[in-house]
Amino acid sequence: MTELTHFIDGKHVKGTSGRFADVFNPATGEVQAKVPLASKAELDAAVASAKAAQPAWARVNPQRRARVMMKFVELLHRDMDKLAEALSREHGKTLPDAKGDVIRGLEVAEFCIGAPHLLKGEFTDSAGPGIDMYSLRQPIGVAAGITPFNFPAMIPMWKFCPAIVCGNAFILKPSERDPSVPLMLAELMQEAGLPDGILQVVNGDKESVDAILDNEDIGAVGFVGSTPIAEYIYGRGCANGKRVQCFGGAKNHMIIMPDADMDQAVDALVGAGYGAAGERCMAISVAVPVGDETADRLIEKLAPRVEALKIGPYTAGDDVDFGPVVTADAKTKILGLVDSGVEQGAKLVVDGRDFKMQGYENGNFVGACLFDRVTTDMDIYKTEIFGPVLSTVRAQSYEEALGYAMDHEYGNGTAIFTRDGDTARDFANRINIGMVGVNVPIPVPLAYHTFGGWKKSAFGDLNQHGPDAFRFYTRTKTVTARWPSGTKEGAAFSIPVMD
Ligand code: NAD
Repeated sequence: MTELTHFIDGKHVKGTSGRFADVFNPATGEVQAKVPLASKAELDAAVASAKAAQPAWARVNPQRRARVMMKFVELLHRDMDKLAEALSREHGKTLPDAKGDVIRGLEVAEFCIGAPHLLKGEFTDSAGPGIDMYSLRQPIGVAAGITPFNFPAMIPMWKFCPAIVCGNAFILKPSERDPSVPLMLAELMQEAGLPDGILQVVNGDKESVDAILDNEDIGAVGFVGSTPIAEYIYGRGCANGKRVQCFGGAKNHMIIMPDADMDQAVDALVGAGYGAAGERCMAISVAVPVGDETADRLIEKLAPRVEALKIGPYTAGDDVDFGPVVTADAKTKILGLVDSGVEQGAKLVVDGRDFKMQGYENGNFVGACLFDRVTTDMDIYKTEIFGPVLSTVRAQSYEEALGYAMDHEYGNGTAIFTRDGDTARDFANRINIGMVGVNVPIPVPLAYHTFGGWKKSAFGDLNQHGPDAFRFYTRTKTVTARWPSGTKEGAAFSIPVMD
């Protein structure tokens, strides 16, 4: 049994709390490692040494800090296969998808190489007589990230790359379900030249999260995970005076207009609904065909495609569309929701509930399920299922379809499939959702744009990665300087104004 560690001051460090969580192989159901769950004292000690290391790192000029990211990108490429294998083994997703997980994080590291430019402040020459005004972007100090199980490479990198390149030290508290890749990423950052103490990985659960939220030396907290925890972390972190951004759950609707290219829409739904077993915050979980004729054509084409999806362990190679869900509890929750859909009157067109993976009977495999005639009062519509289950809600008009997406409490992503530019434009303008696809089912913005939802999918005011990350992980200081001639004017007692 492997005993995993924390990563503190550039070294792997054993847990001392005496508490551990099991790390499973989702394909076999076996426990493959134990991860230590840090106590408050362990977390506080990691923050104290991060705090001590941070000022010297902040003084390293931004170009040299960017060179660490450059080297890190190179090392990620070197170790791509190793990282993807470790990721699939703990998460369950296929190897190509695991590589995608690493690459979407690597792209943020690439963006961070532009830090010398992105950290430049503003300058106004002669804002007044002999007066210059300029702004500095200074690091917060120590920042922390609390991340979910479903992207154990990408999301930690979304957090620590911008934070660190801005001159902060960073405490990463990854998901306890798949902690190995975050530890490997910390090793690579070290190998890339990061000084000790600047990236600390502290494994843990609620105890270490609460310790982060209460630690006075942590100035900023970034969270990604489910909405109830996002809301809790946002509330407690803000109450303790921290800068906090929390990204939560989703229920992403894809609207299919009567003029859509149906083959393209079906391809999109199969990939976006069932890829990674539906365990993506940008998965499409609700299809909204407009008009019964569109709905009938959609279901007719979609059902055989869903039935033909290939499910298996990542070790089966390229022949697998998606793997098991992350835990036995997740499987039980998903199957319970599918049962509730049937009981509440939805039509289960493809029933994957009895799927068994030969040779992997103890794995967390769930067969693909497709519902038609779902209504908004059903639990399968209201809840984020986070499994390979797609619900179809029939709308009779564009306005009705738009209304479904607008009225749902989540607002992470959405998509419309149409050939009509006016409809697409109207949709993109009116929808109250953060990321919108036009004939693109999973509109995840690239690293140089920003990622974030609206409504109950995000708490806080800035998005992740892209330019927003540089705002979140820095504080602006504005300097007004009169040098040297203006000192002769004598004292002024009223507020200066520009007459
Ligand atoms: P989760 O909320 O269970 O866990 C996320 C993190 O919070 C983990 O590090 C976990 O240890 C910690 N945590 C869990 N319970 C806690 C508690 N009671 N108190 C304090 N900390 C706690 O989420 P998950 O199951 O790991 O991830 C799936 C969820 O993440 C889905 O809802 C998905 O939509 C969401 N997600 C959102 C985005 C986004 O950018 N909006 C991206 C990926 C995933």
